[in-house]
Amino acid sequence: MIHDYHLHTHFSCDADASVEAMCRAALARGLKEIAITDHVDFTPEDPCYRYFQAEKYWAATQRCRGKFEGALVVRVGVEIGEPHLYPAEIRSLLAAHEYDFVLGSLHWADGRPLFRSSFFDGLGLDGGIALYFEELARLAEEGEYDVLAHMDIVRRAAYRRYGLRELDLRPHEARVRRVLRVVAERGKGIEVNAAYVRKGIGDPGPSVQVLRWFREEGGRIVTLGSDAHRPEDVGRGLDRALEMVREAGFGRIAMFERRRVRWLNL
Ligand SMILES: [Zn+2]
Ligand SMILES: [Zn+2]
Repeated sequence: MIHDYHLHTHFSCDADASVEAMCRAALARGLKEIAITDHVDFTPEDPCYRYFQAEKYWAATQRCRGKFEGALVVRVGVEIGEPHLYPAEIRSLLAAHEYDFVLGSLHWADGRPLFRSSFFDGLGLDGGIALYFEELARLAEEGEYDVLAHMDIVRRAAYRRYGLRELDLRPHEARVRRVLRVVAERGKGIEVNAAYVRKGIGDPGPSVQVLRWFREEGGRIVTLGSDAHRPEDVGRGLDRALEMVREAGFGRIAMFERRRVRWLNL
C-alpha cells in the first residue's frame, strides 16, 4: 500500500480516535506514509462548524510525527469545507502553521447537504448532479486547496435517495470536464476516495472514466484516501483505488511535503 492521504481523528467532530491510534493502525496495515486531514469547516450549518482546534491539532500531530519517525511518515493536512467561500479565514488558518497538504471539499451546495438524501429535494437526480458540479467548479476555480477531495461525493446522496451504487456521469461530461480542466490548469490534483467501499456504495470514486478525463484535461496529480474516521478503516479500499489509477493510465502518485509535490512512480 502506497499511502493514505485522507484520515480523520478526534479533532474532527465526527471521529473519536486519537492521532496516535490512527498512526498505529496505519503501521499495522503496512503503510509507510499518511496524511492526517481533519475537518475545518466555516459553513455555519455544518456539524463540524468551528470545531477544529488548530493549536492542539498541531501539537498532537507533531508529537506523533516525532514518535513514529523512521517507521511512518506523518504528514499534517486539513480537509477544508467549501474553501471558495471563506478565503480570509483560510488564509489565517494556513499562515499559522506549515501544513503539508490541503484537501478542498464540497459538503454543501447552495445550502443543501451532500451527505443527506434531501439534497435532491425539488431538483431530481439530474438537476441535483448539475447543481453539484456547478458549485464544485466554483470551488475548483477560486478555492485554496492542493487536492480536490471526493469529487463525486454527490454519489452518496444519490445512493441514499435513489439507491444508486454507480453514477453515470457521461450525460454531465462537459460539467465534469470543466472542473477537471481548472484543477489541472491550476496545477492541483484530485483524490481517489475509498469511503464508498465501507459505506457499501460501490467502488472508490471517481470512476476510471472520470480519471481518464482528468488525464485528458492535463491532470497529473492524484492521491489516494480511505477517508477513515476509525482506526479499523485506515487503508481500506485503497488496493482497489490504486488499481483504478493504474487502469486510467497514471504512472505515478503524488505525495506532499509542505504543500509541494513529490512523486512516487508506480
Ligand atoms: Zn469530506
Ligand atoms: Zn474526510
